[in-house]
Amino acid sequence: KADGGTELLRLAHERLDRSAEPPTGAHVPDLSAVGPAGRAARTALALREATASPGTWTLLDHPMLALDVAGSVAHLEPDAVIVHPDGSWTVVEIKSFPMLDGAADPAKVGAATRQAAVYVLALEEVAARLDPAPRVRHRILLVCPKDFSNLPTASAVDVRKQRAVTARQLARLTRVEDIADALPEGICFSPELPAEQLTAAVEAVPATYAPECLSTCELAFHCRDRSRASGAVTPLGRPVRAELGGLTTVADVLAAARGEAGDPDDPA
Ligand code: SF4
Repeated sequence: KADGGTELLRLAHERLDRSAEPPTGAHVPDLSAVGPAGRAARTALALREATASPGTWTLLDHPMLALDVAGSVAHLEPDAVIVHPDGSWTVVEIKSFPMLDGAADPAKVGAATRQAAVYVLALEEVAARLDPAPRVRHRILLVCPKDFSNLPTASAVDVRKQRAVTARQLARLTRVEDIADALPEGICFSPELPAEQLTAAVEAVPATYAPECLSTCELAFHCRDRSRASGAVTPLGRPVRAELGGLTTVADVLAAARGEAGDPDDPA
């Protein structure tokens, strides 16, 4: 992004928008503001101004976007967003894994694509508030080091599928208010509380432990102990749980296997 994004915009022109005028000196607005909400508002203003002056390339360096996730606002910070001369917007994702002969590790590209798809959805929320709404491009610019060098190279990556999947998942999330409504009156999760009270509060929330939680969630040991103590099948992993269907505890499974429970004529 050095030199006013000269190299980044050259890559964007080459990979995404060859029909546009080649970038010669981009507009790089100052996006500094106080707090994430202030930065998100500043970003939205910069996007509106850039879109209102067509014919120029604009580079937003570390913009801040807001996305509604189950009723609460999540702030997201893409590496960059480019406003093209035609007023359309592109998400830029800059990664440190190499692109060797134009190809990168598919798993890492997949993760970067899912991440960029969330940014695309957040940008679409900003675009929807403008009239006319600018086009948010569904091909993002993935920038990586070229063949172990420190030179950047880039590829246009189609995120339509990941965008659709993420949008569907976000729409299906239970809203935070609904989860809070189901909790006992007066419950509090403050880390300042005495350990017993905090443990009781955490235990009031239902959880479905899986071994994957160990690498992603700080409550993993708590949830694992609790699921083991209740004899749940969940510590055995999601595939086992899916195979067992309605049998949710180890005792149920053993009873069914021994023919002590369920319909003896029904092999399932
Ligand atoms: S460990 Fe975390 S993610 Fe897993 S069930 Fe418990 S709270 Fe949920």
